[in-house]
Amino acid sequence: MTLKLDGKKLASEIEERLGSEIRTHSGLAKRPPGLAVIRVGDDPASKVYVSNKEKACNRIGIENFGEHLNAKSTESEIIQKINLLNNDEKVDGILLQLPLPKHINEKSLLAHLSPEKDVDGLHSLNLGRLVKNEPGPRSCTPAGIMALLKANKVSIEGKNVVVIGRSVLVGKPMSLMLQAANATVTMAHSHTENLSVLTKQADILVVATGCAQMIGARHVKPGGVVIDVGIHRIEKELSKGSAKKATLCGDVRSEEVASIVSALTPVPGGVGPMTVTMLLVNTVNSWQQHCNLPFSLKDLLP
Ligand code: NDP
Repeated sequence: MTLKLDGKKLASEIEERLGSEIRTHSGLAKRPPGLAVIRVGDDPASKVYVSNKEKACNRIGIENFGEHLNAKSTESEIIQKINLLNNDEKVDGILLQLPLPKHINEKSLLAHLSPEKDVDGLHSLNLGRLVKNEPGPRSCTPAGIMALLKANKVSIEGKNVVVIGRSVLVGKPMSLMLQAANATVTMAHSHTENLSVLTKQADILVVATGCAQMIGARHVKPGGVVIDVGIHRIEKELSKGSAKKATLCGDVRSEEVASIVSALTPVPGGVGPMTVTMLLVNTVNSWQQHCNLPFSLKDLLP
């Protein structure tokens, strides 16, 4: 039977643990952990993502210092805001919600984040630490995938892993984390030839292409493990002739591959909840560092 790699369940177990850490140590720290999510403009998907992150913070007792800035904000106004948060002792983590409006230079803003508060792991210093396998905040989506594999006892060492996608947000840090865990990693992208020949050899296949349902039965290895990072809203006829309804799907045609592989992440309920949870883990970990508390989350970090 195919194992469902249940991110929703694991995320809720981790949240419970984080909540208990916060309740136990807030007295000693003299404050709860603090997270600031900066949203610029009115991208509707970002609004939903930020609201989910804020709700998760509220559930476990992380204080919110969120900022919603006008779409017309200038780079220097956003930098000013970042500097204030960098210097605010109550703030342990700062996240710049992407995408930013087109007139803003994302790289330049990320460079202004304090690397020690960069809970999304996207500052160049933290990406460098990842390359050198040194401790530092790690990008949330791949870190969440590592936690999900570990919790489900999926063995990584020595395995053939293919990561489709080479973005700085997902594909690149994913492949580095898997290499650090001693996998043999191949990265594929939109110029890769004979993709299915490569992916069919993958003991673990991570798909982060942004192309809805592009991976099917002919791409997967029998008995392999498939991690579907993609998330898309599509209109679907649930039964023949019925009105179309919006549903969520990933980059993988899950009904097609489910009977072939040994384990698969569902969409929704797989990678998505783990991404939010790793943001909380990174924030609580940063709080423990800033407040000289015992580090208790090492087992959750890649
Ligand atoms: P990007 O668009 O930045 O990167 C997509 C990558 O996929 C690129 O490297 C691109 O190659 C590659 N690619 C595109 N088409 C193909 C193809 N036909 N064959 C092989 N490779 C291809 O996306 P992200 O990495 O930011 O995100 C990927 C997906 O994951 C998206 O669907 C996004 O919504 C989702 N996501 C989900 C999260 C979650 O929490 N569940 C969090 C973050 C992202 P090239 O470099 O050559 O262009």
